[in-house]
Amino acid sequence: MSEFWRRAFIYPVYLFLIALFLWVTAGALPAALVFGIGMALQYFAHLRNLAAFNRWLADPDTRSVPDGTGLWVDAFSQLNKLTKRRRKEREQHAAALLQMEQATSALPEGVVILGEGDRVEWCNPQAEHHFGLDGERDVGQQITYLARQPEFVQYLAQNSFAEPLVLRGMRHDDLVLSIKLIAYGSSKRLLISRDITHLERIETMRRDFVANVSPELRTPLTVVNGFVETMQDMPSLENDMARRALQLMGDQTKRMEDLVNDLLTLSRLENEQNILHEEKVDVPGLMDTLLEEGRVLSNGQHQLKLELESTSGLSGSISELHSAFGNLVTNAIRYTPPGGDILLRWYEQPDGHTVFCVRDSGIGIAPQHISRLTERFYRVDRSRSRETGGTGLGLAIVKHIALRHQAQLNIASEEGKGSTFSIVFPAKRRIPADDPTAIS
Ligand code: ADP
Repeated sequence: MSEFWRRAFIYPVYLFLIALFLWVTAGALPAALVFGIGMALQYFAHLRNLAAFNRWLADPDTRSVPDGTGLWVDAFSQLNKLTKRRRKEREQHAAALLQMEQATSALPEGVVILGEGDRVEWCNPQAEHHFGLDGERDVGQQITYLARQPEFVQYLAQNSFAEPLVLRGMRHDDLVLSIKLIAYGSSKRLLISRDITHLERIETMRRDFVANVSPELRTPLTVVNGFVETMQDMPSLENDMARRALQLMGDQTKRMEDLVNDLLTLSRLENEQNILHEEKVDVPGLMDTLLEEGRVLSNGQHQLKLELESTSGLSGSISELHSAFGNLVTNAIRYTPPGGDILLRWYEQPDGHTVFCVRDSGIGIAPQHISRLTERFYRVDRSRSRETGGTGLGLAIVKHIALRHQAQLNIASEEGKGSTFSIVFPAKRRIPADDPTAIS
């Protein structure tokens, strides 16, 4: 028998024995009386302990657990130990939470925890500042009710958050935020906002600088180039050295002119006011032109082929698409040794996307360079790029043009074997060859 039951029965058993003794010596009535009073006293003691327990339960945080009497002593002592342990754990959790809160408050980024239905569960002071939230008042409110910018609402509704959203004028016109969502748990999302106002200002200054300085450079370059060409043509120029010097000057001014032209193209593409000029682009026709241009550039050194698997056209800018496709073809020729093959393809994917693709059997690109190729002036082999007349801006231009057409530039390459550059256009840009409603 356990200790509890031994102690529980000891009192009634003793009381019963005393009552039995009284029954034998003094009769049934005194025995029943003593037994009844004894049991009533025990019942009363239980009630007192229960009342003390109830009082404690009503306010367990400030009251200490009662000592209790009889059988209750053990139970209360266990409860006391348990509450002390819980209190300690709670203090530890509160300290950890405070530390977390202090850490997230010190973060330069705004952090909002969104629960079911994008309702605000918690936010740090930076997020309060970015979105105009109140960390206490707005808990439980839908974030799209508090921050209603359409592009923000749209971003929350979509399910891919790989690219951050740049949001302008969230609280006042000058504020520019970079927003990122991270899903976690079963239905929670972490909204991270970063103030990129300063970065945007620097980026605008850089863009303005390039846009302003490029035309300034263009004029003197044209003049110098003109003089160099005139002097080269002078019949009286016999000195070999002067001829070589003029040849070099001519090459270098040509390089600088190409560079300035590419810089101007890039700043035009980057200019947000320069909206895309939409027209119907006859891609199969354009591909024929590209093939001709490629053959002239290759000068018979490569096998150029064309595979037209679709007759569709595109809605977009002819000049921009010509420039982007042309850049890829030119690169394929420049980075493929003589005798190599170059294939131009235009095809449709089962999902409706249309793809322009250039495959070459050239020098290829090592995997570590691929993600950086579209950065301005990023070159794998500087001298080869220069020798073949590269400015280092070609792929940056291609990427910008692709972006302006909501298309994606994909690069697959193997060093020593060749590369495939594809531009994948969204289905909404495809114009079937016989579509009479298409833009003309
Ligand atoms: P560049 O004027 O130097 O060619 P791009 O922006 O057009 O500048 O290309 C960036 C770099 O990418 C090039 O310097 C070259 O190293 C690499 N590249 C581009 N196209 C190809 C290709 N078809 N094959 C191999 N490397 C390429």
